[in-house]
Amino acid sequence: MQVVNPATEAVIATVEEDSKETIQQKFSTARKEQSQWTKVSLRERIKILQRFSSLLQERAEQLSKTLTAETGKPLWQSRNEIAGARNRIKWLTENAEKYLSDEIMQQSDSITEMISYEPLGVICNISAWNYPYLVGVNVFVPALLAGNAVIYKPSEYASLTGLEIDKLMIEAGVPREIFLTVLGGPAAGEQLLQLPFNGFFFTGSYKTGNYIYQQVSKYKVPIGLELGGKDPLYVADDVSDIAAVAASVADGAFYNNGQSCCAVERIYVHKNIYEPFIEAFVAEVKSWKVGMPEEDGVYITALTRKQQIEVLEKHVNDAIKKGARLLCGGKRLPRPGYFFEPTVLADATNDMLVMREESFGPIIGIGIVQDDEEAVIRMNDTDYGLTAAVYSSSEARAKNILAQIDAGTGYWNCCDRVSPALPWSGRKNSGIGSTLSHIGLRTFTRPKAYHLKKA
Ligand code: NAD
Repeated sequence: MQVVNPATEAVIATVEEDSKETIQQKFSTARKEQSQWTKVSLRERIKILQRFSSLLQERAEQLSKTLTAETGKPLWQSRNEIAGARNRIKWLTENAEKYLSDEIMQQSDSITEMISYEPLGVICNISAWNYPYLVGVNVFVPALLAGNAVIYKPSEYASLTGLEIDKLMIEAGVPREIFLTVLGGPAAGEQLLQLPFNGFFFTGSYKTGNYIYQQVSKYKVPIGLELGGKDPLYVADDVSDIAAVAASVADGAFYNNGQSCCAVERIYVHKNIYEPFIEAFVAEVKSWKVGMPEEDGVYITALTRKQQIEVLEKHVNDAIKKGARLLCGGKRLPRPGYFFEPTVLADATNDMLVMREESFGPIIGIGIVQDDEEAVIRMNDTDYGLTAAVYSSSEARAKNILAQIDAGTGYWNCCDRVSPALPWSGRKNSGIGSTLSHIGLRTFTRPKAYHLKKA
């Protein structure tokens, strides 16, 4: 498999894809050895994962360069990603004992009723490329803490980072038989679906997630799907600083070149501030530097996948045809690499592709709404349900709106953020299950109920 730098289109490495045989072998090894890992104390497992985090810090610069070389994201954002992954590992390891230890629920003189959180066994983690450290950590860290063995398949667009993660895991002290990496694309993924894992945890697109769900439901084991989004954001007319709000919202839409599952993908603005908001938003977008990912001060760089450019062109053309105003951008940049101009489309309506399908690129649609009621209707008019945001100076107003939105996360005066202390979960086509938080720690366990009666 060739690894291509999306900013230069040069082949930067060749890696060997796993075959049916090596995948089967890895699975058998993990199956055979998993119970040994359960015998390692939780304290020791925590220490090992904390060592993994220290290694991420020690090697951060080199790891960031590798991540940027294969995904095209700005180098400073790669550094941020590694710091963010460490922050998640910190929370997960610091809270593991609290949420994974046996829990006494009721006790009397004669009987103790207790829950023990047993590992699932061997779990399959098929992962995405847009934040390989973050989305990887969400799954393999709590899974290992809970005593599972993990077969980890990084995306074919983040193979080098996958190999780095693999190396550091072993260096940190996770036994080779307990964390095994499978390299490859859809064919390798397909092979994994043929094996009787004790849990399947997938991060990626709705299309693949939906397919995987159908394929593996026959095993009757836990399935976690962290899928795409079409996340709406509403700017109410009582915001005090329109320019500051526009800058914050623009960052939420365009960070990582718009390739975030929780990127702002649709903006609705109250009619009273619609034109000034758009003006401030476009001014912010035009102030960004577009360039090579390693350049200082760069904000927009190359997309990771070439084929996404066609999707963006389709969204722009469809929106213009249906009456949107193109305020900036709109096309591929005439240079090597997969660069697309940051693009703003105003007067966007919910029948446009840019307001319906995940764009996953540096492009945004902005629509006008008459009042909060219309905002709620249009925000909910989607097949997805990952996050939703409201900017307003009134907490009560924002919360009232967010309570009516069918999404796993609500933001007031912020967006495009994830906290390890809170559950990360999608609704509708954005997925099922939760990672992160105490719920995400227990996602990789199955409860055993103990009724312990003294003789
Ligand atoms: P993708 O669906 O193309 O691929 C994801 C993974 O699935 C890759 O490892 C790929 O090799 C594998 N795969 C592809 N076909 C397969 C098959 N038939 N069987 C088994 N495995 C298969 O997604 P992507 O492009 O890597 O990721 C981008 C998507 O992920 C976006 O939709 C984004 O919103 C979503 N995402 C969601 C979250 C979240 O937390 N909800 C986080 C990050 C990304």
